[in-house]
Amino acid sequence: MIRDLELAFIKIHILYHADKEAVFGVGLMEELAGHGYEVSPGTLYPTLSKMEAGGFLICETRTVAHKQRKYYRITPEGRKLLNRMRGKIKELYQEVIEQ
Ligand SMILES: [Zn+2]
Repeated sequence: MIRDLELAFIKIHILYHADKEAVFGVGLMEELAGHGYEVSPGTLYPTLSKMEAGGFLICETRTVAHKQRKYYRITPEGRKLLNRMRGKIKELYQEVIEQ
């Protein structure tokens, strides 16, 4: 149960950061760890693949220090979803936190 809820939050973080700049696995793991989410590669990479398959992220492979690294950016569909979730987060925050 907690995993499902956390994974939903993690997906929102991914959408948010992929909207700001191109993101990659290890960088995301560090960012999420800063929020207290321990995300293993075995969870993160399949999540990124699913979000790409769903049309919310677009992947580009770049070579960094002779290594291939997959970078992800948000798509217009992903941005639509992020904006929809922003409204829901606001509503949830108002109900759960402010009242
Ligand atoms: Zn974040």
